[in-house]
Amino acid sequence: MPRIGSDARAGSSMDGAGSPDAIAVALAIAWSSHLPSNLDSFTRQKRYDYRRGIEQRHAFLISIVTHFFAKYASEAIRIHVSVSLAACMEARLVRLRAEANAALAQYEPLALVVAPIVTLFLARALHVTFRALREKGIKGAVLGFIITFVKLIPGVNWYIEFEKKKVVDKLQSGNKSKRESWRTELPNIGLSRATIHELEDARNKDVAWQGKCSGTVYIGGSESENHFALINEAHAMFSHTNPLHQDVFQSVARFEAEVVAMTAALLGSKEKIFGGQICGNMTSGGTESILLAVKTSRDYMKAKKGITEPEMIIAGSAHSAYDKAAQYFKIKLWRVPVNKDYVADSKRIRQYINRNTIMIVGSAPGFPHGVIDPIEELGELATKYDICLHVDLCLGGFVLPFARKLGYPIPPFDFTVKGVTSISTDVHKYGLGPKGTSVVLYRNREIRKHQFVAVTEWSGGLYVSPTIAGSRPGGLIAGAWAAMMSLGLNGDQNIAHSSLLNVHRFNSDSPLTYVNHISGYLENTRQIMEVSKKIEKGIKEIPELFVVGHPQMTVIAFGSNDVNIFEVNDIMTLKGWHLNALQRPNSIHICVTLQHLNVLEDFLRDLRESVKTVKQNPGPVEGGFAPLYGAAGKMPDRGIVQDLIVEFMDSSC
Ligand SMILES: *Cc1c(COP(=O)(O)O)cnc(C)c1O
Repeated sequence: MPRIGSDARAGSSMDGAGSPDAIAVALAIAWSSHLPSNLDSFTRQKRYDYRRGIEQRHAFLISIVTHFFAKYASEAIRIHVSVSLAACMEARLVRLRAEANAALAQYEPLALVVAPIVTLFLARALHVTFRALREKGIKGAVLGFIITFVKLIPGVNWYIEFEKKKVVDKLQSGNKSKRESWRTELPNIGLSRATIHELEDARNKDVAWQGKCSGTVYIGGSESENHFALINEAHAMFSHTNPLHQDVFQSVARFEAEVVAMTAALLGSKEKIFGGQICGNMTSGGTESILLAVKTSRDYMKAKKGITEPEMIIAGSAHSAYDKAAQYFKIKLWRVPVNKDYVADSKRIRQYINRNTIMIVGSAPGFPHGVIDPIEELGELATKYDICLHVDLCLGGFVLPFARKLGYPIPPFDFTVKGVTSISTDVHKYGLGPKGTSVVLYRNREIRKHQFVAVTEWSGGLYVSPTIAGSRPGGLIAGAWAAMMSLGLNGDQNIAHSSLLNVHRFNSDSPLTYVNHISGYLENTRQIMEVSKKIEKGIKEIPELFVVGHPQMTVIAFGSNDVNIFEVNDIMTLKGWHLNALQRPNSIHICVTLQHLNVLEDFLRDLRESVKTVKQNPGPVEGGFAPLYGAAGKMPDRGIVQDLIVEFMDSSC
């Protein structure tokens, strides 16, 4: 039997091209492994369809091959062919090899060595280019290319660093001197009770936030009265507890389960079809709830679909917590621009779905503009492609269910929408719980299992923990429970005077009129929705301003085509307001809370005045952030902006 390689027809070419032979194979492999991934990474949706097409073609080919093979084998057995299949294959291989070598013989050996290396290099360059194009678009990719080259010019980097430091120093100018008096060591002799006075002192030096902040403090009234006092008392009673030790603190385990159940009941769990499957946990805040939902979706999709290079798709308006999750958990993140109404664009999102997609996200509403993403459309996508859909109800979870009951037109947003797999909702926002409380919910226990971490090989024993923290604050859980139980859907109208009353100023014209009753979530929602509509109307009446999108809840974002809106914000800051600056488009927003029930007129008056001031006298305000936002908005190199805010953080903590 001829040995491969000794066939006469391979002849002399064999010796010269012996090793290039192997290289030719390597070359083929290099191309085949690079090319398809480049091709299909270039076209997003097509890639998915293309893959599906390939899979179908593969299946077809395999079935043909199997068919022929079976036919050939059975025939061979029947007519007792003397030449074995192996020998036949071998002869064919020998011939193929000889032909290939003969064809390659015309090339110089060196060329055959160099060609695959160059090919690999080119394939790599192509791969990188296609990837950059896919991630940044043509404009972004070209820009990135130019920026990289500009930075190679000597002195450019130095100049950028110098300018960056100037900006950071300017931002920090006020803070530095303050920090000098801060303590850096333990007191030699403890202060005992006097510590409390120190705390009071420090608190009194904080700026006046009451009624002046966008979002931030959601509970009405002063921080030591009424609802505040109640949740603080609840917290104090349980501040020593830790649900990690379930056996010791069964009370806290029950509180957590009840907070989760009460929250789930607002978001669809009472629908019969769910059969009590909706479940969840309390977390430290919206960000932790989101981190967990993303981590759980990743691991669920890995188990269910074998996805090992996960990607997720979110709208441009989705919270920064998804970036955090993507970075922490090594998930590729696609931020897709919103549509003209500033809501998630499900058509665009669909184009980014591929076989590595683990999840998409809808916000109800999104933080920037207070508009609700089309959750039903996203649910259809999630169902069609069998991926997860997280609904971010961090802001809306304790408003939308009540607003709907009050008759506001609220589109579907919860588990009743098919395809929704998880929800996050913050008790520490409109749930009026203490800061550090949120709930993450899942459609069923099968999904939630992927949230837990179980450790079996630790000498500390068998360990299983549901959320990111190990030890967890039982006091906050008790505080959240107290908040929800004390408020209820409808407040207690008959309650007599007590220190725990949720007292509201009833009539803003006569600020000393108090009404002694507890308003529950429904009444609270009615009040903040009404104030929000009035603020929206008031802003629309200022000719220089426009409202961004169509606010559906309690966040109203506004910009201007006439004045620099960030300068307006700076003047508002001088007047004691703390609003949020937004970009794309440049705008600011106010997130209306119970703190704002009596400040409607003050707010609109100050806003009108600020717009007027900027219009008459445009230009930066001393110590204002407008120049930073202005520059950051125009800076094509987002890396520099990123460095800048990191430097800022670094110098603030
Ligand atoms: C507040 C908020 C979050 C994040 O919550 P934190 O409690 O600040 O971590 C996420 N999404 C939306 C829509 C929010 O409003």
